[in-house]
Amino acid sequence: MDTTNDPARTSWVTSANAPETDFPIQNLPFGVFRRAGTQDAPRVGVAIGDMVLDVHAAATTAPTQFEGLALAVGACAHASLNALMALGRGPVTLLRAALASALDAKNGEAQSVLQQALIPMRDVEMMLPAQVGDYTDFYASVYHATNVGSMFRPDNALLPNYKHVPIGYHGRASSIVVSDTPVVRPVGQRKGPNDVEPTVGPSRSLDYECEVGVFIGAGNALGDTIPLQSAEQHMFGLCLVNDWSARDVQAWEYQPLGPFLAKNFATTVSPWVVTLDALEPFRAPAFVRPEGDPPPLPYLLTAENEARGAVSITLEVRLQTSAMRALGEKAEPVSRTTFTHMYWTMGQLVTHHAMNGCNLRPGDLLASGTVSGPSKGERGCLLELTWRGVEPLVLSGGETRAFLEDGDVVEIAGWCEAPGMRRIGFGVARALVLPAR
Ligand code: CA
Repeated sequence: MDTTNDPARTSWVTSANAPETDFPIQNLPFGVFRRAGTQDAPRVGVAIGDMVLDVHAAATTAPTQFEGLALAVGACAHASLNALMALGRGPVTLLRAALASALDAKNGEAQSVLQQALIPMRDVEMMLPAQVGDYTDFYASVYHATNVGSMFRPDNALLPNYKHVPIGYHGRASSIVVSDTPVVRPVGQRKGPNDVEPTVGPSRSLDYECEVGVFIGAGNALGDTIPLQSAEQHMFGLCLVNDWSARDVQAWEYQPLGPFLAKNFATTVSPWVVTLDALEPFRAPAFVRPEGDPPPLPYLLTAENEARGAVSITLEVRLQTSAMRALGEKAEPVSRTTFTHMYWTMGQLVTHHAMNGCNLRPGDLLASGTVSGPSKGERGCLLELTWRGVEPLVLSGGETRAFLEDGDVVEIAGWCEAPGMRRIGFGVARALVLPAR
């Protein structure tokens, strides 16, 4: 940890000092924004309380606060985070430290000039944080894998490779969208167990999956690997991910090659990317494998990763139906879990992905897979929560859900807390379900 994590630090942006904010001065996540209702070129900003600081404008206004950071500041004039991500961890760490210093309550000099680089969050439109070249989705919760396996393959719930090799598939980057982009219910081909023939139509079992994503910072050359010791040097930061899934389509199409059209119609990400530096106080030991489980193979095993490879993030899924919205009711929590339940750490996923020389590039997105825990309230998708629709969810207003209906809004929130440390949050990844076209 360093001074940027100091819980005593406050900001002259007073909304950042509110105890409930996701964006105190200890966080400073990066995102891409423009003024709402304009066609302005998008730019890089950091979230501070209920404001966004335009990083490039700030550095232009107050150059003495950003000395020696020309490359990182220059990258913030871009319309995506890719250029900043490509610089690797070091320059981003220094830039974030300079931003913390400029926004510090004790920095009256910066306060007097930086007001003009601040825009209220309610006046901005958030864009996709990065141009995602490649998207990979993993399957790193053993609880999720066991639950899903027992529904789809009752005799063979957890496949024998699971505890040796991180399971993943290559997803589709073109349909990754930022929070608040509506999601259209997909049409697909499905065949239920009692159907004679497959049929085509709007999915009848649209679902969400609550996940955490890592954006790759510095990449690796084709043919090179990323040892676990240096995996985190290749991570820019984490975000929230909703891997929307059409379960009826998935059940019919997934064998033998895995997910395809059931998954690639939309993936929602949160707009703010929280750096590993901000997450430092919330690091946790890797999953403790039960007696009898194999240890990770040597390339996926270091003492450092075992001791602090995980990140303690509380994840909550909330649902708001159109009826609730009409009554002015907020989204209602339906599950809450923690990211420390994952069988593999993000470092292990990065290292595994590159073990064959596959090149990861700045802005690539690796998602964790559905984050589910051992208890029912910790299940990160409706497939598990309702046990494939058999036990529908009952909302407090009496409405029920086996799967999502048109007009539903799904909101995933994430935050980190630790004794003596300042709480930080990810904001939300949220979207409205629209009817099929
Ligand atoms: Ca997934």
